Amino acid sequence: MESLLINLKCTNCGDEFMSEEKHTTCPSCGKVLFPCYDLDKAREQLKKSEIQSRPRSFGMWRWFELLPIRDKRNIVTLGEGDTPLLPARNLGKPFGASHLFIKQEGINPTGTFKARGLAAAVSKANELGVKRIAMPSAGNAGAALSAYGARAGMHIFVFIPEDTPELIKKEISIYGTTGYLVKGLITDAGKIVRENASENDWYDVSTLKEPYRVDGKKTLGFEIAEQLNWHLPDAIIYPAGGGTGIVGMWKAFDELEKIGWIDSKRPKMIVVQSEGCAPIVSAFKEGKAHADMWQNAHTIAGGIRVPAAIGDYLILNAVRQSGGTAVAVSDTDILDSMKEISHSEGVFAGPEGAATFAAYKKLLSESFLKPEDEVVLFNTGAGLKTTELVQGEYLVLDPKDPDLSKKINPNSK
Ligand SMILES: *Cc1c(COP(=O)(O)O)cnc(C)c1O
Ligand SMILES: [Zn+2]
Repeated sequence: MESLLINLKCTNCGDEFMSEEKHTTCPSCGKVLFPCYDLDKAREQLKKSEIQSRPRSFGMWRWFELLPIRDKRNIVTLGEGDTPLLPARNLGKPFGASHLFIKQEGINPTGTFKARGLAAAVSKANELGVKRIAMPSAGNAGAALSAYGARAGMHIFVFIPEDTPELIKKEISIYGTTGYLVKGLITDAGKIVRENASENDWYDVSTLKEPYRVDGKKTLGFEIAEQLNWHLPDAIIYPAGGGTGIVGMWKAFDELEKIGWIDSKRPKMIVVQSEGCAPIVSAFKEGKAHADMWQNAHTIAGGIRVPAAIGDYLILNAVRQSGGTAVAVSDTDILDSMKEISHSEGVFAGPEGAATFAAYKKLLSESFLKPEDEVVLFNTGAGLKTTELVQGEYLVLDPKDPDLSKKINPNSK
């Protein structure tokens, strides 16, 4: 079967647009556009067994019919998706939790789940004949765009905050991207891209301003449903910046229900942010539909240092409709959680992923979650991308030191 994509539809005003033209946000109201699919046809003709029989090496492209690329030859892939859902028994043990899972997105190309969204966006841009793509990024999205853009032979322009981790700056450069360091945050970078895009013939793939990244992230929801044998967990804890992951999963669950592969039960969708940048948490607590721009955003979790999100209403909607919640955790709790996840599971999570475990502990202590709940923690990125947050602890040995053995073991003779 081919892609079942029909067109683009505005999530706010409902206006519809052709999918074979370049689009960003809704030309009528400025809000987010979603790709829409022929789900009736999927219900009749698409078989779970068919998708499950495809090679795992296809990764997220096993879901081709529900992704927006018309011609498979336009797909630009580096092997993204099909990441493990790891039972986290050691991590859950102190809490009596036996149904805790980690979705291990750190093994994606470029080390974060951004690979899924950018694989979809660059593939679709490739199909639309785009040659020049620009993006403001907190770092990881810029790295993923750079990798896929290089593979597609495109010219990529990335705008990141000046204080982006060194490793990520280098990573973006090695792919041949034209990089800019902005004295400010991702929102400042976004303004620069917006104001210079048309003059420079850039296709702007900012979070949720480009309609297809969200469908790459949607495959997270498909995979979780498949990995749990077509039921959904009680809760999913997600570190939200711009929110494509949570918005994408919410869309995935809706599509799977319409196809008839899952029922109407939804997980509590739980957003975690850092106390130093928590616009969605504030809006949730205040009962607002949109979030105010967060002032003086600061956190060690760079991927969620996002002071304003164009899809805020979509994130808040998923959280509220699912009976979920939004919590802020401190950077200290994030660092502790990084150690705990690494020690107990062998998963070196980035600070964003670690924030989900910090939130889990908090929500258990507040009895919002129960130890017997089936909960998925989202590790969105590899800790290897932010090693500046980690202290190595070593004892220094000099092979000529006569007391070397005593240093290793004070009881040694
Ligand atoms: C970008 C990013 C996030 C947040 O993702 P959004 O789609 O912006 O909500 C979380 N973790 C990591 C590691 C990221 O790079
Ligand atoms: Zn609209």
